[in-house]
Amino acid sequence: MQQVTLPRKLVNQVLAHAQSCPQQEVCGLLSAKNGTPARVYKIPNAATDPAVLFDMHAPALIQAFKEIRERGERLFAIYHSHPGSAPRPSAADQAQLAYPQALYLIVSLDEQGVLQLNGFRCTDETTSTLEQVELVITE
Ligand SMILES: [Zn+2]
Repeated sequence: MQQVTLPRKLVNQVLAHAQSCPQQEVCGLLSAKNGTPARVYKIPNAATDPAVLFDMHAPALIQAFKEIRERGERLFAIYHSHPGSAPRPSAADQAQLAYPQALYLIVSLDEQGVLQLNGFRCTDETTSTLEQVELVITE
C-alpha cells in the first residue's frame, strides 16, 4: 500500500471539523507547500442532502484556491466526513471525483464512537478508481 505522511496538527483540524458537525458531512481542502502538507481550508457543504452528500460551496472553493495560489501552495487533499457510514468512498464519491490528482481523505464518526480517517488515491485518472493508501501521522 502506498504511504502518505500527514502532520498530526492538520489531521486534528480535520477531525475537529467533522466532530463540530456530527449530523452532516463536512468538507474541505488540504494544501501543501513544497510537497509538505501545510494548511486546512474548511469549505461549507452546499449539498441538498448534506447528511449523506457533500458538494463544496463554489464561491468558498474558488476563494480557497485563490488563497492556496497566493501562498505558493498546491492542492494536496480533499476531505469530507461520513456521519453515519464507514470511511470508504460512496458511489456518489466515486462518481464525482473532480480532482483525480488529489488525495481523498474520509473521516467517519460512526464506528463504535471512534473517529476514523482513511485516505484514497485514484489509481488511474481516466477510470476514477480509488485505492486506499496508508496514512502515516507524524508529530
Ligand atoms: Zn463520501
